[in-house]
Amino acid sequence: MAGQTSHFEQTIAKIRQAESSADRSVGSVVLVAVSKTRTANEIKPVIKAGQKVFGENRVQEAQGKWPALKQQYPGLALHLIGPLQSNKTADAVQLFDVIESVDREKIAASLAKEMDKSGRRPALYVQVNTGEEPQKAGIPPGEAVAFVETCRQKYGLAITGLMCIPPAGENPGPHFALLVKLADHCKVTDLSMGMSGDFETAIGMGATHVRVGTAIFGERDPQG
Ligand SMILES: *Cc1c(COP(=O)(O)O)cnc(C)c1O
Repeated sequence: MAGQTSHFEQTIAKIRQAESSADRSVGSVVLVAVSKTRTANEIKPVIKAGQKVFGENRVQEAQGKWPALKQQYPGLALHLIGPLQSNKTADAVQLFDVIESVDREKIAASLAKEMDKSGRRPALYVQVNTGEEPQKAGIPPGEAVAFVETCRQKYGLAITGLMCIPPAGENPGPHFALLVKLADHCKVTDLSMGMSGDFETAIGMGATHVRVGTAIFGERDPQG
């Protein structure tokens, strides 16, 4: 496990360096360590090394490992970074502290209902499909402002951030710039952008949260 924690330490060092190069206050960017496909035993050394914020992309997979980890290590925060189905919203509201993938009205309605019922209030971000890729989740950029307004006005949801996953193999810069612009128009402060390959670029452009898996935990099974 020594390898894993050293990759974690290196990632933290790179984040701090990128903050400093961008004249941003050191320690201001939140690392969301993406633990999808990893077992509890792979995750624990990273928790013990000091990491408190983790991301998972599947509700069911997260339910299999996080309730026990959260109990064992109080103070952890879990982000849902994958698409949410409406039949999974009750479970998601129970388990996650931040849901980054709100992207359609049906989900907004279902989240509002479950949050009222349970009294739990995870923070909510809207996912924007900045590359307008047909196979990818997220609201099209042209609809983002109106959708955030609908979430707030019609469903009483306090949307506080935007998230994007730029198209694979493209320069992510223009996608990050678009997300920054939309966040301004939507009046949200949290910007979840940047993954293993581009988190330094994202920090230079204003990311408040970077979602990093591979650089910490190593390559995933291609199915992951
Ligand atoms: C898997 C995943 C990541 C992490 O990707 P890496 O390239 O492994 O850092 C970030 N964001 C989302 C939405 C993901 O599904």
